[in-house]
Amino acid sequence: MKYPDVRHFLGGRFEEGGPRYLEVHNPADGTAISRVPLGDAAVVDRAVAAASKAFPGWAATPVKERVQVFFRYKALLEKHLTELGRLITEEHGKLKAEAEAEILKAIELTEFACSVPQLIAGEVLEVSRGVECRVERYPLGVVAAINPFNFPAMVPHWTIPNAIALGNTFIMKPSELVPLSAGRIAELLKEAGLPDGVFNVVHGDRAVVEALCDHPGIEAITFVGSTGVAKQVYRRATGNLKRALCLGGAKNHVIVMPDADPEMASSGVLAAMSGCTGQRCMAASVMVAVSATDHIVSRLAQQAGGMSAGRDVGPVISRAAKERIEHFITEAEQAGATVLVDGRGAAVPGKEGGWYVGPTVIDRVRPEMRIAQEEVFGPVLAIVRTGTLDDAIAVENASPYGNAASIFTESGGAARTAMEGASAGMVGINVGVPVPREPFGFGGWNDSRFGVGDITGKSSIEFWTKTKKITTKWNREAGTNWMSK
Ligand code: NAD
Repeated sequence: MKYPDVRHFLGGRFEEGGPRYLEVHNPADGTAISRVPLGDAAVVDRAVAAASKAFPGWAATPVKERVQVFFRYKALLEKHLTELGRLITEEHGKLKAEAEAEILKAIELTEFACSVPQLIAGEVLEVSRGVECRVERYPLGVVAAINPFNFPAMVPHWTIPNAIALGNTFIMKPSELVPLSAGRIAELLKEAGLPDGVFNVVHGDRAVVEALCDHPGIEAITFVGSTGVAKQVYRRATGNLKRALCLGGAKNHVIVMPDADPEMASSGVLAAMSGCTGQRCMAASVMVAVSATDHIVSRLAQQAGGMSAGRDVGPVISRAAKERIEHFITEAEQAGATVLVDGRGAAVPGKEGGWYVGPTVIDRVRPEMRIAQEEVFGPVLAIVRTGTLDDAIAVENASPYGNAASIFTESGGAARTAMEGASAGMVGINVGVPVPREPFGFGGWNDSRFGVGDITGKSSIEFWTKTKKITTKWNREAGTNWMSK
């Protein structure tokens, strides 16, 4: 094995122990590179104990002191960017530029946390003569975040800096498919001066997730992953009276109008469907081509045909994922769709054991086909043709998901109509991947998000804190009124 066994991180120390273990593979060549322990309720107990012990001291540390850790941590992320990117590429397979982009995004998320003192200054008002009301924010306690495989560093940083800067102590559950980065995150946070026990990592699968949802010592849970599991976690965590925010899967539509700038539309849609090998919840997966858009479709197909697996797109996460994605393509073809660019059977010389699917463009997909409805999570674009913008919006609205939707057009009126009509939490105009950058929050609608608010940005401050409302009267001379008796 290239790397020693992955370890839990509890109370500031790495600890061995499963009880079970799972092999970790590099998807680029299929080799086993490490083993990850699959924890159980006992490991979760130890993590909660460590985080509970650290909570009073951390919560009592003034926020301006707490964020000093994140100023130093940001500098460490910058210093170790190349090394962290390389680790992500090994455990996940994604291209170097995509792996490093995750760290750049982690840095931006950390910057937001550094600005938290500016954002949470309390409110105060004289509500009646001589009577003052003020609002103060308090951390929740021990909180936990459950992460997916597709962004080993970026998605964890949606929650780590904000939750901790706001005074909570934290348990991270990485995806068991990409568990290596978590250890480096723990080391760098410790190096930045985070006290032991404030940040903990428990590795595992379903058993650990269920133990986190059930543990009475945990106040709040975030989850990012597929919709089926998001629903289960939301129900279980809220059933145990915890605060929960659970982000699920997606099926994102890009509407392309005939007046769209052809180069902007074709390269924008292509990047949105193939970036991160389509393994992102913001990936464009259905292009709704309105009316006379053949010139854009053929341009896009030509560009996609010039891309190659290994160079322009990384591998998918597992053999099972490759087989699932290829099955989606075959099924669409059998149902009568036209495969314009076929990424099935992609292989990279020298990496024959890798799990690759090349960029795939399928035209003449009908909205009722499975490939138009279900999340494929690979570099596959289904093109649905409609005659009007209203029909295109109806196709988007029929999806049970609601993460992202975009339109490519030169018409302000069409853009506005699509923006208002889309049933999605994040909408793009001539932007294929409309991820809101800080300080704007990330969060979808419908089956892409369960719970209130966004996971990043200002609304995460609401999620990670509770407010105390304090009413005070010191001034006896102000008299007595109905408010101050
Ligand atoms: P997943 O749901 O399989 O796993 C997510 C986490 O849940 C992992 O930590 C895993 O260990 C755990 N888990 C898996 N099965 C479980 C079960 N039955 N009970 C309890 N826990 C379980 O998701 P994934 O394959 O790792 O990630 C891909 C999915 O995540 C896609 O659907 C993608 O759209 C979604 N995603 C959504 C967003 C968003 O912001 N909405 C962001 C990234 C990824």
